[in-house]
Amino acid sequence: MTLDEILEEIKKAETIVLLTHETPDGDAIGSSLAMKLALEKLGKKAELIMSSYAKTFDYLPEVNDIKKESQIEEYDLAISLDCATLKRLDNNEYFEKAKKTIVIDHHGSNNMYGDINYVNPVAPACSEILLAMFSYYGIEVDVKIGTCLMTGIITDTGGLQYPSTTADTFEYAAELLRKGVDIADICKRTLQTKTKANFELTKRVMDRMELLEDGKVAFSYIDQKDMNEVNAEEGDHEGLVNIGRNIDGVEVSIFIRQKENENAYKVSMRSGSYVNVSDVCLMFGGGGHPRAAGALIQGSVEQVKDKLVNEVKKYL
Ligand code: AMP
Ligand code: MN
Ligand code: MN
Repeated sequence: MTLDEILEEIKKAETIVLLTHETPDGDAIGSSLAMKLALEKLGKKAELIMSSYAKTFDYLPEVNDIKKESQIEEYDLAISLDCATLKRLDNNEYFEKAKKTIVIDHHGSNNMYGDINYVNPVAPACSEILLAMFSYYGIEVDVKIGTCLMTGIITDTGGLQYPSTTADTFEYAAELLRKGVDIADICKRTLQTKTKANFELTKRVMDRMELLEDGKVAFSYIDQKDMNEVNAEEGDHEGLVNIGRNIDGVEVSIFIRQKENENAYKVSMRSGSYVNVSDVCLMFGGGGHPRAAGALIQGSVEQVKDKLVNEVKKYL
């Protein structure tokens, strides 16, 4: 069984590196930190490498142990968490050079780029996969690990609200709450608290919001000028795509933000109930989940908008 094979590889490895997708969200940072802490319980020291992460996550236990780079070039084992493709994996050179590779993920668009792939597209968060995994391995989920995993679950389910949330999710949440994980605090920090820059960007996104295709598609954007003017930092764009999604009648919300020094836009797409936005984004080399997906597209705002709306139209 895959879970046994994974444990076998972990036990064999002397050097382990943990990696996740670029611009890590709560599930990316939560699941990879939880994995680091769980490996310590198995007597294994792993390194977690991330180019950067949003200040929102400063409350996570052991977050200061995250490294930007490593002296080791060739790890015995590399584990990727919450990342659908090698292209999207931050610092993927460590993955490519590792002697053995494992992928643990919940994206339906995952292309199985590891030697061992443990992918469950039904799981609402990679963090929830880890909860089941740790229980199978007999690793006790303490308050620290629980805080990391609950952060992943809360951020990927919008506070246990998205349809991806299952009865199991609520049971895990209840179990962790009983153990002392402060779920209300996690919700407050990750979902409710907005930075000033995010608030300023929200105003611009609302001002520019266009409703297209009989109000079924919402479109808005921010560019580098906006981000400079409001002194935006990493993570300050989080949640802006939801503004369009929450408007009555909107099925697909499209939000794009300009990449630094590039004539390209990072696309965020959300859908209400029936359009599979992962399929739409796959057409542009991206991917994700049926109700939340992303991609990177070259061009101006108008060009990117036209390309996306023309594709989305086919699914309405
Ligand atoms: P975001 O809109 O950035 O919050 O992303 C929504 C979902 O789509 C997340 O699960 C991402 O991991 C996934 N995603 C975003 N961009 C890409 C991409 N370029 N390729 C594959 N998956 C993506
Ligand atoms: Mn993620
Ligand atoms: Mn995730």
